[in-house]
Amino acid sequence: MEIAVISGKGGTGKSSITSAFIALAGQVVAVDCDVDASNLYLLLDPEKTGEEKFISGYHAEINKNLCYECGKCVTYCKFDALGWDGGSVTINEVACEGCFLCSRICPAQAINMIPSDDSRLYWGDFRYGKMVYGRLAPGEENSGKLINKLRSKAREMAKAHNLEIIILDGPPGISCPVISTITGVNKVVIVTEPTVSGMSDLQRTVELVRKFGVSIYIIINKYDLNTKISGDIDLWCAGQSLQVIGHFPFDKSMVDAMIAGKSIIEYTPNAEISKLINVAYIKIIT
Ligand code: SF4
Ligand code: SF4
Repeated sequence: MEIAVISGKGGTGKSSITSAFIALAGQVVAVDCDVDASNLYLLLDPEKTGEEKFISGYHAEINKNLCYECGKCVTYCKFDALGWDGGSVTINEVACEGCFLCSRICPAQAINMIPSDDSRLYWGDFRYGKMVYGRLAPGEENSGKLINKLRSKAREMAKAHNLEIIILDGPPGISCPVISTITGVNKVVIVTEPTVSGMSDLQRTVELVRKFGVSIYIIINKYDLNTKISGDIDLWCAGQSLQVIGHFPFDKSMVDAMIAGKSIIEYTPNAEISKLINVAYIKIIT
C-alpha cells in the first residue's frame, strides 16, 4: 500500500504527522518527495547505503577555440541565454533551458551540451525500515522526474525487503512534483491548518487529487488555533463528501519532538496528540 501525505502549503505540520505515521506503521519504506527542501530525512536520520547521480537536464557550453562569432546561436536562442560580451559570445547558464537548438545549428560545431549531474538520489536504512530521498541541485529542473525515480527505487526496496507499506512525504504546492508524488498511490492524506490560505490551498489540492480517483483523507492540524475556520473547513469537507479523520490540537510537544529528532509517537507515546494520530492512522489503513 502506498500512502502519500501532502499539504498544498508549507508549515501545516505535514512532515511531523508523516513521521508519526511511519513510527506507527513500524516497518516501511519512507520516501521524502520534497527534493527541493527535504526535511523528513533530517528527522529520520537514515544511514546512507547507496546513491545515484540524477541528470536533471543539460546546459550549453561554447568551445571558444571553434567559435568564429557568426552570431547564429545568439539570434535563435529563444531563452535569451546567449549574448555578447565585447566580441565574444557568452552564455548565461541559469537562463539556458538545455533545448539543444544552438548545438544543432552551430555551423562550427562549437557548442557542447553538458549534463547537469549535481542532483542525487539516495537510499538507506533507518529505525523503521528503508528510506529513499533526493536532492535537486539549486536552480535545476525536473523535480518530478527525480520523484519518479525515488518512487521506483522505493518500490524496488519494498519488494526486496518484503515491506508492505510505502509512506511518501510530499512537497508543498499542487504542481508537477505533487503530481509525481500522488500518481498511482492508493491513498492521499491532506494535512491542512485553520487559516484562510490553509483552506484555500486545501480546496485547490482536493481539486487536483480528485483527478486521480484515489481515496482522500483530511486532517486539520492545530485546529484549535482558529475554531471558526476549522468549522468552515469541516462544513466544506462535509459538502464535498470528504472524510475529516483528525482534528489535532496545537501541541508544543510536536515541535519539541522535532527538535529532539523524534516523531511524536517516539517522543510522547501516551500523549493525547499521539493517541489522536494513532486513531487517524488506523482509519487510513483500514
Ligand atoms: S553559432 Fe557557433 S560559431 Fe556561431 S557564434 Fe554561436 S557558437 Fe559561435
Ligand atoms: S541550449 Fe537552448 S536555451 Fe540553452 S543556450 Fe542553446 S538555444 Fe539557448
